[in-house]
Amino acid sequence: MSIVDLHCDTLHEMLKQKLKGEHYNLYKRAGHLDVERMQESGYMVQCFAAFVDKEQVDSPYERGKLLARMYKEMCSEYSPYIAPVYHYQDIINNERLGLISAVLTIEEGGVLEGNLEYLREFYEKGVRMITLTWNYPNEIGYPSCLEEVSIPDNPANWKVTGEYPGLTKRGIEIVEMMESRGIIVDVSHLSDAGFWDVASIMKKPFLASHSNARSICGHKRNLSDAQIRTIASRGGVIGLNYCAEFLEDNPADVTLESFMRHINHILRVGGSDVLALGSDFDGIETNPALPHAGALERLFDLMLRSGIPMSVVDKIQSENALRMMKEVMR
Ligand SMILES: [Zn+2]
Repeated sequence: MSIVDLHCDTLHEMLKQKLKGEHYNLYKRAGHLDVERMQESGYMVQCFAAFVDKEQVDSPYERGKLLARMYKEMCSEYSPYIAPVYHYQDIINNERLGLISAVLTIEEGGVLEGNLEYLREFYEKGVRMITLTWNYPNEIGYPSCLEEVSIPDNPANWKVTGEYPGLTKRGIEIVEMMESRGIIVDVSHLSDAGFWDVASIMKKPFLASHSNARSICGHKRNLSDAQIRTIASRGGVIGLNYCAEFLEDNPADVTLESFMRHINHILRVGGSDVLALGSDFDGIETNPALPHAGALERLFDLMLRSGIPMSVVDKIQSENALRMMKEVMR
């Protein structure tokens, strides 16, 4: 197997340990993902999100920088097993050397604090994908998860396409700069209006790194069929999220069959070139059907037994995500 996973929160979990004065061990951890279990499943690429809960920190920018330093430190400390990625070719070179590629991403565009200079700075530090929002409005746009729909304080700064706000004017500039720099734009967590703003601005592929199908599980974090078709038509990808709440309307009912319903639906609506993996490991409650990075074979076995051809399983495991990374990153 060669697996590309577009989203995990392992870096954030390890930073929490480090801030408590504990040593983090990427080789063998108690959480969902470590080197040992990535090797067991045959990982090729893992995207490591610098996740920032901006309401919990004094400066999202400083916390983002701290996580970027942590990524660098992790890559050098575990250099016998993993290596950083700055260009697409690094993924290929790392694989030849038997190393798992670690891509640095940001989850919470608020880390940029609306500053284009910070975007340049994080690019230099290796950031190659940014999830534009998490669950709060930020300088870039509006999230999908707020219960109450309210127009933000200063509506003049927002490009409001529907009743629900999408991207800000600064957010549009940031998305344009990401596109020109080769930083992947991630619409997971973004509001529907924000999604359509991104779709109207961008020419290159964009992705939803960790979202499922809303027709199968009605959570707002999931994608509508129209969104699935749009991502596919742009050459983008959708990373399947392993969180029970995004798989089943009643999360207690989750089984591997729940994954299959989303997989079959996304393949039917978007075609075979759009689906990828976005586990959300270490950012979600443990899903007993797929509890950790060492257990992925179960899912791929079931895909094959359900009649998905090997060629399509290969696309889901790695080829679709690699195709998009090759096109966007340089
Ligand atoms: Zn997330």
